[in-house]
Amino acid sequence: MEVFVQLESVKFHNGGYCWQLARLAGSKSWKPRRFFAVFLSFVHPKYGLCVIDTGYGPRVRAAQRTFNGRLLNFLLPIPRNQPFEQANYLASGHGISTHHVNLVFVSHFHADHIGGLDLFPHSTFVYRHETLEELQAVSGYSQLRHGFLPMLIPSFFESQGCKVGEACFTQHAERLPGLQVYDFFKDGSVLLLDLPGHALGHTGYFLRLQDKSLLYAVDAFWDLEAFQKSARLPAPSRAATFNWPAYCRTQETLRNIQHTLKLNPLGCHCPHTQAYVEQL
Ligand SMILES: [Zn+2]
Repeated sequence: MEVFVQLESVKFHNGGYCWQLARLAGSKSWKPRRFFAVFLSFVHPKYGLCVIDTGYGPRVRAAQRTFNGRLLNFLLPIPRNQPFEQANYLASGHGISTHHVNLVFVSHFHADHIGGLDLFPHSTFVYRHETLEELQAVSGYSQLRHGFLPMLIPSFFESQGCKVGEACFTQHAERLPGLQVYDFFKDGSVLLLDLPGHALGHTGYFLRLQDKSLLYAVDAFWDLEAFQKSARLPAPSRAATFNWPAYCRTQETLRNIQHTLKLNPLGCHCPHTQAYVEQL
């Protein structure tokens, strides 16, 4: 029988928030709500402390002063005076000493997921290098369309990269039917999931814990109820999606997995995920 390694101390953290209408996430409500930039930390028994994404960070404020940064902040306003603006907020607010973080997994290159990368100068970054190369090569207008602010990639990022190629992802029909998967540590503890549609190279994570497994779908949906009902997102949200048909197919695959494997996906900005954050 195959023995899988289990992760310890899986925690959810709020790395700041922006405001947006709940309706844009597929909810029926037109009220504005906070979209928290959730990131995760966990301990692998062999490879130590790891995080998935970083939330916002102090550098986001500088990036907002660029032309594209101003436009993105107009669309997704990030209120002032948030804890993430302090350089030591991960240690003081989340108990994370970045010197002790071995690996930073990057789900995709939107500011609310990579805004704190420069706070990890001693870590190795796990990311899809073809995605970053493509984002860096396109025009400023195209980068805006991708929601990519190059300034958020610190100078040491690529030299400290553990680069994941697209060829690493393969079918894993018996465990996660329909998804392309990469067993990162080769021990079943962390599977990188190709979840196309939301953004270029958008990646989710299957995490094996002691008592259960988590399917962290990141931005494959923003509202669990809307996702479960297959609610159609309004036009601005569809327009902001990198590849709408792929996004719909990814959601359908995740709904099938949820139904057959009884594995509830969690979304980064979904209000239901806040229940996990507050358990800390
Ligand atoms: Zn995103």
